[in-house]
Amino acid sequence: MANISYENASCIYENSDSLAVDSLNLNIEDGEFVVLVGPSGSGKSTALRMLAGLEDIDEGHIRIGGKDMVGVPSKDRDIAMVFQNYALYPNKTVGENMGFALKMRGVSADVRKKKVEEAAKLLDLTQFLDRKPAKLSGGQRQRVAMGRAIVREPQVFCMDEPLSNLDAKLRVQTRTQIAALQRKLGTTTVYVTHDQVEAMTMGDRVAVLKLGQLQQFASPTELYDRP
Ligand code: ADP
Ligand code: ADP
Repeated sequence: MANISYENASCIYENSDSLAVDSLNLNIEDGEFVVLVGPSGSGKSTALRMLAGLEDIDEGHIRIGGKDMVGVPSKDRDIAMVFQNYALYPNKTVGENMGFALKMRGVSADVRKKKVEEAAKLLDLTQFLDRKPAKLSGGQRQRVAMGRAIVREPQVFCMDEPLSNLDAKLRVQTRTQIAALQRKLGTTTVYVTHDQVEAMTMGDRVAVLKLGQLQQFASPTELYDRP
């Protein structure tokens, strides 16, 4: 079970005098797709990075499946992260990019190949497996970044503005694909965006942040009814 709970979780940056994330309380259910939305500087990325172990949980707790993440290094959390810049290895092929994390974990070449092929099929990337990222379009690169996350079969996906480098049309297409894929896999997902339409169309529930604090946490329908 990969339910997530933020319990009065706070983060403060060393050179700052205000909390980037201020006593955040959120209960995310196993398999849920939760979007963190809010203006720039509202603490979305920080809240996500605290979950992924990329920023400290300075106060409070974050639990995944009941297990406290305070002090647990990023590599020991069963989380795959998808970033807006994709961070693909330019000298590796699409297949190698997708399988790299498994290789590092000592997964055999046979199993890696099988998992990469399955993910490529889900993401419509089969024909690109032997190409280098530079030969792909932005949308295809974005799917490779997704593929790299899903081959690991993590407990949790953390996505930080994964569509912000795509043009408007592709963004609409891709958000539908990501939402459909998440529902198929059933992996608990926390997704950061500043785009309200993206939040309302993709999330099972949407957490609205402002100045590091939670303003609202509700389904899109509920948010439309009481904006
Ligand atoms: P968002 O993702 O909503 O744009 P962030 O989590 O990036 O918000 O930032 C929240 C607050 O923390 C902002 O005031 C931002 O300037 C500050 N902040 C973010 N990263 C750092 C950092 N590395 N050092 C100092 N302050 C930071
Ligand atoms: P984001 O989309 O994450 O909000 P930003 O453009 O706000 O991106 O920030 C880019 C990078 O700079 C991030 O790594 C963030 O942690 C860092 N950052 C943001 N605000 C500050 C700040 N006030 N001081 C230092 N670093 C910051």
